[in-house]
Amino acid sequence: MTKSADLHIHTHYSDGTMSPQEVVADALHCGIQCIAITDHDTIDGISPAIAAAEGQDLEVLPGIELSSEINGKDVHMLGYLFNWQDASLLEQLKEMQNARAGRMKKMIQKLEALGIQNISFEEISGSARTTALGRPHLAAALVEKKVVGNMRAAFDKYLAEGAPAYVPKFKQTPQEAIKLIKGFGGIAVLAHPMLSSVDELIPGLVAAGLGGLEAHYPNCSVNVMQFYEGLARKHHLVVTGGSDAHGESKKHTFIGKVRIPYDLVEKLKEAAQKNV
Ligand code: AMP
Ligand code: ZN
Ligand code: FE
Ligand code: FE
Repeated sequence: MTKSADLHIHTHYSDGTMSPQEVVADALHCGIQCIAITDHDTIDGISPAIAAAEGQDLEVLPGIELSSEINGKDVHMLGYLFNWQDASLLEQLKEMQNARAGRMKKMIQKLEALGIQNISFEEISGSARTTALGRPHLAAALVEKKVVGNMRAAFDKYLAEGAPAYVPKFKQTPQEAIKLIKGFGGIAVLAHPMLSSVDELIPGLVAAGLGGLEAHYPNCSVNVMQFYEGLARKHHLVVTGGSDAHGESKKHTFIGKVRIPYDLVEKLKEAAQKNV
């Protein structure tokens, strides 16, 4: 049997709903041999996932999904196999997390100005396990308080870009995110390029040290995947893929929905090792 991997999974340490232990149990249940925990702007889920997988037939790779922005577009940068316990990395992530908390307070203020006064920062930050507060946490609170019927409506009415309670995130360019990941010995992979619409920026990102493209992603046609595989070949990038599972907070995907052959993991490891 050939080994397979799912290299894009969120836990409740960012905006997923599963604990690292549940992620590991699910991955074992699905018969996957390798996963990467890729929470937004935090590494808190990695250590418990590694501990939960100990002694089992499952490899857990350290990962992260860093937020960045360029020309007004959100670009998510995956990082793999970096020195995730480095104190200076933790400090830099702490800054991003603090910025996320500040942004959450601003979004709550905007909601207050719109007449929604029953959502408090303390309630959201107290109930979420994450240090990387995001719009999905606020959307969940809006649903819980019955301000809107569901998460989608929370985004459409209040939180989507351009909506009245939207506040942009801290500013970091994709090039800076790549530099950070590489600086800690890892490899940077452009997340879900088919969603980000930044194809024209890929050559510049390669020049900045981009190492891979996430060509395999849920609900994506074979043609689109082959297009990004072709771009990866052209630029000598590795190809990765994953489900982007978030548990209950993204119901259209789940662990193992996307599985890539393990030889792509080996190529990722080789490329990370070469990284200078
Ligand atoms: P944030 O990092 O706080 O900006 O939140 C981004 C996350 O919100 C994304 O990863 C999505 O999971 C979710 N999201 C963004 N836009 C929408 C939308 N229109 N509807 C539902 N979820 C969304
Ligand atoms: Zn997310
Ligand atoms: Fe993403
Ligand atoms: Fe993701």
